[in-house]
Amino acid sequence: MTEIQRTLVLLKPDALQRDLLGEIISRFEKKGMKIIGLKLIRLTEELLDEHYAHLSDKPFFGSLKQFMMQTPVVGMVLEGYNAVSEVRKLVGSTNPREADAGTIRADLSMNVPSNLIHASDSLESAAKELRRFFKDHELFSYKKITDMYHIGEGI
Ligand code: UDP
Ligand code: MG
Repeated sequence: MTEIQRTLVLLKPDALQRDLLGEIISRFEKKGMKIIGLKLIRLTEELLDEHYAHLSDKPFFGSLKQFMMQTPVVGMVLEGYNAVSEVRKLVGSTNPREADAGTIRADLSMNVPSNLIHASDSLESAAKELRRFFKDHELFSYKKITDMYHIGEGI
């Protein structure tokens, strides 16, 4: 089904350290995703325990959390047709060396946990993650001239 969705993206500390924030944001802009929320976030252990709860029994859980707290991260909310799956498609597989060429992780990274980016993996987690990192007043609804291309007559 085609529908307008919102999804949560975090640009991880390696993206910030490696000066790739602009490049990554640019890929989403060029795709036609609308940025409706954008800010720096200082992650805490408490937030990460919640955000990565599905990994809490993994041996790398502690080092993943330390990595995510190395610098602030960029939090973004993107809106567009099927935003959750479209953004995951652009991001690529978790392991950058297994990700398809052309994806952000394959093109720009080599390793985990430093695979540059987090993106919600389902509509349900997108809704939860949006609330986890953004307040209502930090999300913006606005018209763009390109709406007629990206969200005009849909298929
Ligand atoms: N990760 C890791 N080692 C692993 C698997 C995951 O360091 O073997 C890190 C990696 O940064 C990944 C994050 O944990 O992006 C969250 O894992 P998840 O399985 O949710 O992958 P994602 O949804 O980010 O593709
Ligand atoms: Mg995940």
